[in-house]
Amino acid sequence: MKIIMLGAPGAGKGTQAKKIAEKYSVPHISTGDIFRANIKNGTELGTKAKAYMDQGLLVPDELTCDLVVDRIQQKDCENGYILDGFPRTIPQAEALDRALKAMGEKIDYAINVDVPDSSIVNRMSGRRACTSCGATYHIVYNAPRAEGVCDACGEKLILREDDKPETVQKRLSVYHEQTQPLIDYYEAAGVLKTVDGTADMEDVFAAIVHILGE
Ligand code: ADP
Ligand code: ADP
Ligand code: ZN
Repeated sequence: MKIIMLGAPGAGKGTQAKKIAEKYSVPHISTGDIFRANIKNGTELGTKAKAYMDQGLLVPDELTCDLVVDRIQQKDCENGYILDGFPRTIPQAEALDRALKAMGEKIDYAINVDVPDSSIVNRMSGRRACTSCGATYHIVYNAPRAEGVCDACGEKLILREDDKPETVQKRLSVYHEQTQPLIDYYEAAGVLKTVDGTADMEDVFAAIVHILGE
């Protein structure tokens, strides 16, 4: 099962992707997580990516596409995967299609988690991310057991620099300009499924399971 998660920043793609990965036993591949791991480890890719991420801009396609194409050819992707945060531009989607075609494969579902802009700033300013394991929380909708501490690993939770309202506005306009066209792209490919992302997390997940099958 090969799945793409589409949706605005903060729509709940990561939250749902983790639950899907667990239920269907496929790897969760988040380009944002990959870039943040590179920043943390001080790699050259991390240094390059950070300059864009801090400004709420997309990391250039040249730095992004090969990374994902390599990743989906690894052994753990044999039975499928969930791409979260990729593709984010039409050229990325085309690069993915070319790679899949060469492998004789195709995307099964592009799940669009639909949330209006008016809810996004609230989602993002309340998001807290674990500095160690990548778990995410929300101070109101999905609070950790102890404030500021990750339930999963006990490390510190932070408000991501790019989740501050100034940067969120920029990321939203980048989303509308560069990423939203992918909705039509995958609709035309016949794999688009839209779910209402404003519902409770469990209800959004139930809608997705309904699409993917038990
Ligand atoms: P969110 O889940 O809130 O949408 P991500 O963790 O997916 O955020 O991404 C954080 C940042 O990483 C993006 O704002 C962008 O700068 C960069 N990024 C992640 N994925 C991509 C991608 N496919 N193409 C370009 N930039 C990306
Ligand atoms: P994305 O990966 O699309 O950027 P996340 O999954 O990180 O989004 O979710 C953004 C924030 O909103 C997080 O703090 C998360 O806990 C919270 N969140 C996710 N889904 C919901 C939901 N259905 N209702 C309320 N808050 C949610
Ligand atoms: Zn953690």
